[in-house]
Amino acid sequence: MKYTRRDFVKTNAIVGTGAMMGFNFAVPNVKPALTGGKPVRTASWPKWPKWNPETDEPRVLEVLRSGVWSRSEVVKEFENKWAKTTGSKRCVTVVNGTNALIASLTQAGIGGGDEVLVSSYTFIASVAAILQTGAMPVFVDSDPETFQLDPKEIKKKINNRTRAILPVHILGLPADMDSIMAIAKQNNLIVVEDACQGWLAEYDHKKVGTFGLAGCFSFQNSKNLPMGEGGAIVSDNDEFMDKCFSYHNYGYPYGSLVGAVNQGAVMAGTKIRLTEYQAAIGLSQLKRLDEETRLRETNANYLKEQLQGIPGISTYVLYPKVNRAVFHLFPFRFHSEGFKGLSRDVFIKALRAEGIPCSSGYTPLNDKLYLKDAFSSKNYKRMYQPEELDFEKFVAENQCPITDKLCNEEAIWLSQSMLLGSQTDMDDIANAIKKIHENVEELLNYKG
Ligand SMILES: *Cc1c(COP(=O)(O)O)cnc(C)c1O
Repeated sequence: MKYTRRDFVKTNAIVGTGAMMGFNFAVPNVKPALTGGKPVRTASWPKWPKWNPETDEPRVLEVLRSGVWSRSEVVKEFENKWAKTTGSKRCVTVVNGTNALIASLTQAGIGGGDEVLVSSYTFIASVAAILQTGAMPVFVDSDPETFQLDPKEIKKKINNRTRAILPVHILGLPADMDSIMAIAKQNNLIVVEDACQGWLAEYDHKKVGTFGLAGCFSFQNSKNLPMGEGGAIVSDNDEFMDKCFSYHNYGYPYGSLVGAVNQGAVMAGTKIRLTEYQAAIGLSQLKRLDEETRLRETNANYLKEQLQGIPGISTYVLYPKVNRAVFHLFPFRFHSEGFKGLSRDVFIKALRAEGIPCSSGYTPLNDKLYLKDAFSSKNYKRMYQPEELDFEKFVAENQCPITDKLCNEEAIWLSQSMLLGSQTDMDDIANAIKKIHENVEELLNYKG
């Protein structure tokens, strides 16, 4: 049985519990799907990525048939379009978002002995990139309402070795850029934005990724602008972008980086170039990005409204100057006490059983073995004092209790592609959560 809004209003009139609970409409007292009841929804969700053979394939086929597959005009075309889209002077594409971060940090002069302040509620790549440069990541705790790094916590972590801040616009919700840029300015810190979930997101009518020295984007398959793998750096700084370009192409001369004839590479570089066919896929996806982003926004706003007032559920908060969030993920917080002590784990299972895919999101990054491994590497041992590489000490100094709570107890995510559904799809999500809430007793003894 699928509950429409009208069904609920009807039921509400009969049982009258919805108004009492502060819901817009009531949920009939029915068995949760997890314990054998009928799921709220059995229909499938929108597939990702989107692909329309008719409109998306001609350009890709043209590239394939041309035999020009290595970096050339199509990559340049994508870079020009992405620079223009973000309102940046320049763009260099690279193989992925992780390498966009590594290139940006190294070309900004970050390396061994430097401390980089990084969001603790993020994907492993943000931290992995810092470790690749030889710098020391310093984890900054989060604001639980926005899921973003908390500027008040940034200040506490600054010392004379701090060189940069790596804010992440996590979930596609912009970070508090006014505060972050003010702190960076006061303390003479470089800002490299991890906008790998932030395509088209805006803070103060400016695209995320354009506040700091550099903004880094990811075009991995699951991302809102997918091309399988891919990444980009945007910046207005010509000298920095010439370096990033040269770095991504073996360190060969580029722009202001000129070398004597026959001298070859002018700086230490690597090779992380995008291919022509990836760029062709990117161009086709870029065409639908704005419209899809608008649909996600509309559905997210609607769903947020539907979830408000459900005891035990907190919806996300955006900073006052955010004028566009892009919802790579739709987050909300689950509070066990609002569900008579139900665990998040069983709540997630119950929601999935109702036909609503969801996850608990990230796990904490500040205490995991990859850090210990980096600290025991030859490079780190030569760049740092032994006490700086004491893993136990590092873990103790990098506690982030708010992030821990988000990761271990509270956060629930819905994927961006679900937000490409209809308003009725959003109702299904809200109704499933309300159904679980109203029938939580049934789930308290669930074992499985
Ligand atoms: C996806 C992602 C990255 C890394 O991008 P890849 O293209 O997968 O290398 C970095 N940071 C965040 C926050 C991401 O979501």
